[in-house]
Amino acid sequence: MFGKGITRLPVVLAVVLAGAVCMAVAPGGRAAAQTPSTGRWFKGNTHTHTLNSDGDSTPDDVVRWYREHRYHFLVLTDHNFLTDVSALQALHGASDRFLVIRGEEVSDRFGEAPLHINGLNLNTQVEPQGGTSVVDVLQRNVDAIRGAGGIPHINHPNFRWAMTPAELGAVRNTRLFEIFNGHPEINMFGGGGVPGLEEAWDSILTNGTLIHGIAVDDAHVFKQPGNANSAGPGRGWVMVRAERLDTSLIMQALERGDFYASTGVELTDYVVTPHSMTVTVTPTTFSKYRVQFIGRGGAVLKESADTTATYEFTGREGYVRAKVLESNGRMAWCQPIRVN
Ligand SMILES: [Zn+2]
Ligand SMILES: [Zn+2]
Repeated sequence: MFGKGITRLPVVLAVVLAGAVCMAVAPGGRAAAQTPSTGRWFKGNTHTHTLNSDGDSTPDDVVRWYREHRYHFLVLTDHNFLTDVSALQALHGASDRFLVIRGEEVSDRFGEAPLHINGLNLNTQVEPQGGTSVVDVLQRNVDAIRGAGGIPHINHPNFRWAMTPAELGAVRNTRLFEIFNGHPEINMFGGGGVPGLEEAWDSILTNGTLIHGIAVDDAHVFKQPGNANSAGPGRGWVMVRAERLDTSLIMQALERGDFYASTGVELTDYVVTPHSMTVTVTPTTFSKYRVQFIGRGGAVLKESADTTATYEFTGREGYVRAKVLESNGRMAWCQPIRVN
């Protein structure tokens, strides 16, 4: 369960929030592994638009695209509109094969800054809440999404340069933000003195707030396949580990960090024990890989050229997260583990 105020990390934890293995903190601050997850990986996209806001296709066409491209789940998230997905689920859903989840992109602003927060699996539509600062607007909307039974994720921080890492890191009661978004104007790599999204992530983690990085399409355009300058589908997704394809299990796994974000790298496994983290890449025939383990301040602690790479914790890293770089630019991001 997720409770208010727990995004600020306790300083005594040795290792918490494993992405692939449940962990429990033992007396004295050490962490002990519990039963490893036996779940399966499910591929999903949590940010998609339709004709119900500024997308170019019907919800049926959009769901059909993801179903036909071998995704397992899709969240429809139109701007300030909660689409009823029951008929879509009846038409396209299939046990352990495909699931349609309702959602909304709560689209607010502060001054000129667009502040968009997705609400996944909402019970009711959430109206933009407004507020007196960037952080206040974000927080009010996050809290309203929680109040409507949904899971919040903060979207595209660098779109129109809307929020700083400090503002993003100050928001409580949320565990997810977009480390990758397929829209062509989200300024993922930063510039002009503004940090990129990975730099922002490391800054927030270094300051002690645990937040997970999610990859999404933010797809609006399904009728211009091959146009890299349009917000098309199939660019970024999450692979979520769950016992079965069930909305609440998928939501719980996202909150727990039992997933990785990807733009084309597939992992066979990701395992964290009290002492180490191991990433196993599922290689493709023509690609080569680098596996990086990253800690406090964004420092690369270790880089491996092997498709199975292990990092042994020293206890001085602050946090450790793994990233896989494929030789054509595709990536995967595992969720951070607090090491102290
Ligand atoms: Zn948006
Ligand atoms: Zn969007």
